[in-house]
Amino acid sequence: MEMESLKELYVDELKDLWSAEAQITKALPKMIKAATHPKLKKAFNTHLKQTERQIKRLERIFKELDESPRGKKCVGMEGLLKEGAELIKERPQADVLDAGLIAAAQHVEHYEIAGYGCVRTWARQLGEERHAELLQETLDEEEMTDKLLTDLAESSINIDAESGTEDDEMAGVGSAREGSM
Ligand code: FE
Ligand code: FE
Repeated sequence: MEMESLKELYVDELKDLWSAEAQITKALPKMIKAATHPKLKKAFNTHLKQTERQIKRLERIFKELDESPRGKKCVGMEGLLKEGAELIKERPQADVLDAGLIAAAQHVEHYEIAGYGCVRTWARQLGEERHAELLQETLDEEEMTDKLLTDLAESSINIDAESGTEDDEMAGVGSAREGSM
């Protein structure tokens, strides 16, 4: 199909996002299972519920447009989720896996942030103010999730991953490092 208008591009990207969200709802339960840190498990759980609501928002938009959300596979998300699945398969040490899962999830969030930012802007351009509001709500959720993941990584999980299996012999190093800075 040849795309001749911003409206067609808009619908096409919405389909891409709907496919991406559907794939995420299948991948997140595996990430929840693989994660160890309770705060990370909780963050993934919360985002799974958010993702289900995000799908509903997209479907409302499709209904208003009288279009089907189907017909496009988001290969970008397929690739990102595959990278996350490969990490889990490698069975890293638990704290390292948590740090890697955060990184995988942040790649996903950034992809979504790019997509939702574009469709939100196109919705405004096309005079679809109600759509723009719905898409902005999702965009805000993706951005908050990204920030929460950064906070989790920086506050504890990356630090646990760094000490890793050398916990005992590295015990005194943290304070020594701080002292030298
Ligand atoms: Fe999402
Ligand atoms: Fe998300």
